[in-house]
Parts: sequence; structure tokens; C-alpha cells
Amino acid sequence: MLAALLQSTEGLTVRLYEKRREYTRTRMVQLAPYLVADSVESYRADAIDGDSVAAIFDPSELDEGLAFRQSIPSDLRGLLESWTQGFCPLNTIERSLSDLIDARGSNGVERTEAVVTAEDAMAILEPGDILIDSTGSRSLLRDHLVPGDAPEGANTLNVRLEYALVVTFLYGQPYDCNEYCKYYKNLESPRYKFIPMVSRTHYDGSVSHVTGIVNISADEYEAMPTRFDGQWLRDNFPGVAESMDRFIGKIKEETQGEILGELEIVRIPLDLYRARNATSRRWLTPGKNGHPFAGTPVFLAGDSAIGSPYFQSISLGFECAMYLAGLVAQREVPVVEMLDRYELYSYKQWLRVYMRSKTIKHNKDLFESLDDPLALLEKLHIY
Ligand SMILES: Cc1cc2nc3c(=O)[nH]c(=O)nc-3n(C[C@H](O)[C@H](O)[C@H](O)COP(=O)(O)OP(=O)(O)OC[C@H]3O[C@@H](n4cnc5c(N)ncnc54)[C@H](O)[C@@H]3O)c2cc1C
Repeated sequence: MLAALLQSTEGLTVRLYEKRREYTRTRMVQLAPYLVADSVESYRADAIDGDSVAAIFDPSELDEGLAFRQSIPSDLRGLLESWTQGFCPLNTIERSLSDLIDARGSNGVERTEAVVTAEDAMAILEPGDILIDSTGSRSLLRDHLVPGDAPEGANTLNVRLEYALVVTFLYGQPYDCNEYCKYYKNLESPRYKFIPMVSRTHYDGSVSHVTGIVNISADEYEAMPTRFDGQWLRDNFPGVAESMDRFIGKIKEETQGEILGELEIVRIPLDLYRARNATSRRWLTPGKNGHPFAGTPVFLAGDSAIGSPYFQSISLGFECAMYLAGLVAQREVPVVEMLDRYELYSYKQWLRVYMRSKTIKHNKDLFESLDDPLALLEKLHIY
């Protein structure tokens, strides 16, 4: 995304390093509608964090963000609009961005297929370069942004919200599920609740892609393989499988549809994290000269900088990418100011996603105790 945004910025040449030859991930993802918002109202139109957006961002920042969106070239804007319609395969996003970069007339992007090490990244720097690390959650450079002998992970703040199973399947009927539906379909499952996030696939208009989350304990997480199918879950964790099967049975009863293909299940920790330093600002302190990052601005983007659960990360990454592309285009902004502005902006986006994720988690916790008033009261902490 950053390469495609920077490609159309005058005076820049982009060198893009990618270790994968092909994009093969099969997961379906959902992007937030705010990515294509055309007014502050539509940018804030979210049931959970509309108010937080107004509290965290200055009106001028929101206006600047909207103005940047409007300046995005129409080829890229068209893609963003299509991805925000509903569920979309992650690899469609990856491939269409890659194809768009290649198809543009005045290319300006030089691609290299290589596994880059931190040392490689430092060695190739030349005066006037900007280095952006978008290598995902196991960021290549996050630990290198802190001078000295900081222990591994010292530049990462991690909040583990829960362990979960993410269960996905295709269903051969239109299907939707609001909070009442989630409640009634889970009534007979007191321990494990299957909480679906439902959206129609936007390709054929008749298949629903269902993703559900089931909270599991740390011990259950440890005892499971990374990915498995419905039968494995039934054989090994019948209690968890029962809640999932009960939920699916009720969907079928209501809409007379069938599951298409197999259930796919992954077990993941739901982590909220951020790089405490998302730029090389710490290397600019006097006395640290001589290090390659003292003379080159370095930025973390995407999962490299911030990660969040509940299907928000790509939108967050795109949001920060748009801001960074806007900043890089302003060649007159001094480096120190550029780093400070990006740190502040990514911190604000982190606050937003932190508050949103904590609210979702809290709501899920309350939901699990709805039929037990005393347990519910214990989780409320009114004052
Ligand atoms: C089960 C599951 C479901 C999800 N669903 C959603 C969802 O619905 N919505 C959502 O917003 N998010 C979702 N996410 C999160 C989303 O997939 C990630 O946030 C997103 O892929 C991060 O994008 P990224 O570009 O920052 O990093 P990545 O997608 O990890 O890309 C990093 C790239 O860097 C390359 N790379 C890494 N190291 C090197 C190196 N040393 N040299 C060269 N290249 C390198 C990799 O090959 C890769 O192409 C989900 C995640 C999971 C696990």
C-alpha cells in the first residue's frame, strides 16, 4: 500500500524488497469503511469508537486525513472502495496492489526479491533515503530502533487480551447475526460462546462468509495445534466443538442452508501491541552519531508498528500508511519534525484501537455472564 501511495509522489523513487515470490495466504479479511470516508461524520460512524475519534484527534488532523484520501489516485481509490464492501481474500488485496504498481505507466518502483536482514537494511542506506519497515508483526527493525543493549522486545508494549479460536466457514445462504441473535444462539452454551462476525462475500452475492471467535484458556491454547478442522476439535475438545456446532445447527434451522466445504480453525493469542518507538527518533539524540539510523529516518508501518485483534489491523496499517505517505510528500518538513509527527499520529491511532479493543473485550466478557447477574456485577466496576 505504501509503495503504491509513494509511487505517485513526485521526486521519489521507491525500492521495494519482498521475500515472497507469490502471495498465497488464503484468509478472508474485513476492512473498515472509514478508510474511504469522505466526511468527518462518516469517518466517525462506528458504534464503538466514534466518540473516541473526536476526543483523540484534532479537527485539523481529521480534515487533513480526509483531504489526503481525496487526493489518492483513482486506480488505488477504486481498489480501496471495492475492498471495504465486505469480506475479501487477503491475497486479492496483495495481488491487486502489486499488479497496480506494475501496471502504472511511469513506474518509479524498483522491486527486489530478497530476504533482507537488519544489517542489509543498514548497509544499503544512502544520503537522502527514507527506510520503511513493513515486515509484519515480527518486525525486522523494531528492536533496532532503541540505542544501546536493550533486551529483545524492549521496544514492544504488548497487552494479551485473550486466547481464541477463529473458526471460518462458507454458508450457502444469506445470513446475518446481531447481538440478540448471538445471545439466543448461545443460550445453551454457558461455558464457550461462539461469537460470529458475519458478512456476505461481495463476489457472488449468495454466499455468506462466517468468522466466529471462541474464547479458550491458556492451557487449551497450549494443547492445540496451530490450525485444524472441525473434526479434530470434536475429537479433542468436545465442549468447545459443541458450542460451535450448536450455533451452526441453529443457523441451519433458521435459514435452511448448508456449510460449503470444511470448517477452518486457527488458534491465536489476541494481542494488542505497539512499538514504543515507531521511528528512529532515539538515534537522533546527540552522541549517537555514526549509527546508520542517526542519518536516515526510519519508520515502522503496518503490523510492524501496531497490531490489534478483532479484525482491525489492516485498516489501522492503511491509515498510518496514508499519513506517512502524506508526510513524506512534504519534502520541506525537517526530519526531526517528521519523526515526531509520525510518532504522535501512530500513538493516537494506537490509543484509538486500544480503547476500541478493550471495549470489545469488555463487552464480550459481559456477554459471557449475561445469565449470571452476580458474575456480571463482578465485571462491571461502575465506580
Ligand atoms: C486469522 C487472522 C485473521 C485476520 N483477519 C483480519 C481482518 O479481517 N481484518 C484485518 O484488518 N486484519 C486481519 N488480520 C490481520 C492482518 O492479516 C494483518 O494485520 C496484515 O496482514 C498485516 O499486514 P502487514 O503488511 O503489516 O504485514 P504482513 O502481511 O505480515 O506482510 C509483511 C511482508 O513483509 C515480508 N517480509 C517479512 N520479513 C521480510 C524480510 N526480512 N525481507 C523481505 N521481506 C520480508 C513478508 O513476506 C510479507 O509480505 C487477521 C490475522 C489473522 C491471523
